[in-house]
Amino acid sequence: MMEWYVEWRRMSTELQKPGLSWSRSRSTLFHACNRQYFYKYHLSWNGWDYSAEERRRLAYRLSKMTSFPLLAGIAAHESIRQLLCSIRDGVPLKQHPVDLAKDMIRRVKDGAVSKGWLRRPKAHPPLEEYYYLGEPSLLVREKYWKVARTAISAFMESSLFRWIKSTDPSTWLAVDEPLNFDDPEVFEIDGCRVWSRPDFALKWRDFCVIFDWKTGGPKPDDQIQLQSYALHARACWGFEPRKIRTVAVYLGEHGSSRHAFKVTEESLAAVESRIRHDLHVMRLAEAGGDVESQWSLAHDAHSCTNCFFREVCPAVMAIPAHLRMENNHGTVN
Ligand code: SF4
Repeated sequence: MMEWYVEWRRMSTELQKPGLSWSRSRSTLFHACNRQYFYKYHLSWNGWDYSAEERRRLAYRLSKMTSFPLLAGIAAHESIRQLLCSIRDGVPLKQHPVDLAKDMIRRVKDGAVSKGWLRRPKAHPPLEEYYYLGEPSLLVREKYWKVARTAISAFMESSLFRWIKSTDPSTWLAVDEPLNFDDPEVFEIDGCRVWSRPDFALKWRDFCVIFDWKTGGPKPDDQIQLQSYALHARACWGFEPRKIRTVAVYLGEHGSSRHAFKVTEESLAAVESRIRHDLHVMRLAEAGGDVESQWSLAHDAHSCTNCFFREVCPAVMAIPAHLRMENNHGTVN
């Protein structure tokens, strides 16, 4: 969640590569492909520096890449976050949340089309569909815009949102704030930071109720994500496991639906053990350091299909659309 913000804070406070930490996205990336993890967390480091070597700068650019499916989710989350913040702070939004999402998607798309990433990949991330594939069809663009729009509408029309609005904002514990590198509300396992702050949480009676907005359908690792949020509630807010409730809220065409994941001492012990294991295997792999060949390629070529790093990776060596265009004197294959 919001790792770009964490990275930005790090960039502004230190140039030293940070130590190992755990987040669901980091763990997922590691298990999908060790080499991809290396590109994202090692080779891209310092790639924002114009004087860095070309390959490092390229890895940094690719590490900022997004895609329409991801962007739809990010835009919906950000609009819901701003909506809840406006209620909490008593400051009306200047735009309807659906328009906020639309503007955000348009801004990212325009930056990608104009190749803003050539100089400022963080401000203007490349979009996979333009970067590798050329021009995505209007159908594709419409499809993901609709995902964002329907998710926001489903949230705003839900009984859950009505209930949230009826609660006292002073009981709200988290509103998907970007993670802050100096945030004291971070806990550690085996000396490593664990980034697992929920999308939204509040204190209700003597319970901590945690919500996670989902713009896609249920996924196998939803449970570990929600349980890791419960770990956060126990470590940072002091709730006993039996006083924590976690709910995944799926927002889509058919409105909103919820799935609760039960929190117990055992479920928290299980997720803690899983995080410990992840950190252990990541630490072993980290011994490869900056030596690229020490990081294994994906075992399953299927993982490479949509990998953002396929331009830099020897397993694929994909030629992005702008280079194909140059090679073909203006014709994109
Ligand atoms: S292209 Fe394939 S092997 Fe290379 S980093 Fe991506 S997923 Fe891994």
